Amino acid sequence: MTHSHLDHSGCLPEVFRDVPDAELWVHAIEGAQMEEGDERTIYGMAMFKIMCQGQYRLKDGDYKMKVHRKLEDGDELKIGGMDWTVIHIPGHSAGSIALYGNVNRVLIPGDVVYADHAIGRYDLHGADPVQHLNSLTLLSELNVKMLLPGHNRIMGRVPEGYIKETLEQWRHYL
Ligand SMILES: [Zn+2]
Ligand SMILES: [Zn+2]
Repeated sequence: MTHSHLDHSGCLPEVFRDVPDAELWVHAIEGAQMEEGDERTIYGMAMFKIMCQGQYRLKDGDYKMKVHRKLEDGDELKIGGMDWTVIHIPGHSAGSIALYGNVNRVLIPGDVVYADHAIGRYDLHGADPVQHLNSLTLLSELNVKMLLPGHNRIMGRVPEGYIKETLEQWRHYL
């Protein structure tokens, strides 16, 4: 997982019910929170917790679970026959990561940067606007051909300098 917000992790109980051999890989920071049953990052803020628990019949501790692998910056992963590098990009959440395909130049940035010059929110639990800016700067230095963000549309062909341009549009807010 790129991070553990509920809109990304909500289906985990169903996944483990239907695919018992599935493994949960998440950055060490949010991995430790999940194992401890600290669900503040999962829900992001108290109001969302109340709303989501009511709407989806969730209870405290539903996301306390075993994390099979705690990812760290620089880890090299083989997924789907492809090689990916883990890049720790905190800011949207403390344990946000991107997966970067060194060969195919595909970037999976979670909720840190989207198409159409949008970026993820930076006001939830564990978020930090300055870290968000630094993470965008780090991503802007990569050669990215395809962007697969956590929401909205995929960018099949990323124009050169796209992340840098996006970051410049947001710099003064961060
Ligand atoms: Zn998120
Ligand atoms: Zn999301």
